[in-house]
Amino acid sequence: MIRIQDLSYRYPEGGFRLLLPELDVARGEAVALIGPSGSGKTTLLRLISGILLPEAGRIHVGDQDVSSLSESERRAFRVAGIGLVFQEFELVEYLSILDNVLLPFRLHGRLRLRDADRERAAGTLQDLSLGDKMDRRPAHLSQGERQRVAIARALVTEAPLILADEPTGNLDPQTKGQVVELLRTKAGEAGATLLMVTHDHALLDLFGRVLEFGEEEGATTLVDREGAQ
Ligand code: ADP
Ligand code: MG
Repeated sequence: MIRIQDLSYRYPEGGFRLLLPELDVARGEAVALIGPSGSGKTTLLRLISGILLPEAGRIHVGDQDVSSLSESERRAFRVAGIGLVFQEFELVEYLSILDNVLLPFRLHGRLRLRDADRERAAGTLQDLSLGDKMDRRPAHLSQGERQRVAIARALVTEAPLILADEPTGNLDPQTKGQVVELLRTKAGEAGATLLMVTHDHALLDLFGRVLEFGEEEGATTLVDREGAQ
């Protein structure tokens, strides 16, 4: 599903450099990404989703060579092909919760909004205990509730790849478990691949594979730790 070769990335501001000789993630895998703050986890998700372009190397997602797409092609690829949960949620303040969840359909012409999609969006919000808050604006939700809206939005298009950046960061322990279960279950049902950044070591048992970011002599290292399953 994801194939990365000889990847090199540097922010224009300089300083940090991500070097990744090789990474392969199979379709349907559930992978946790762990590692210290600043080690490049978010940067890697931005590269895989085509928000950032590598300086060198190749990133394939499915049959797309993401790094060779134009800006507008990358945007279309991202909206239709990836369910993204950003660290900062990126909710649209003037839209209701339900409309935030349905936003991917409005952003991309290839995704047509059908009644079934509305029902699925409402159902996912209900699964995340937000069923009674669908008509509210994001400003009238708690941080944890906003985070769950972002998760519902990532699930609604049933994309083949879900990238989630610390999606449980603002949640209480019980909700954390529920949210990861939901992400795992929905990804599993759809045969989707899941990559999730987390600092929560208690959640690692739920993943088939754990990749640990580190640094050695200025280069990124990614160590495959034994997953629990
Ligand atoms: P992580 O998600 O593992 O905490 P990031 O991928 O966000 O780490 O950041 C990796 C490094 O890149 C950090 O040193 C961070 O300061 C730097 N960085 C992140 N975003 C930017 C940016 N937009 N411009 C310049 N440097 C950045
Ligand atoms: Mg990060």
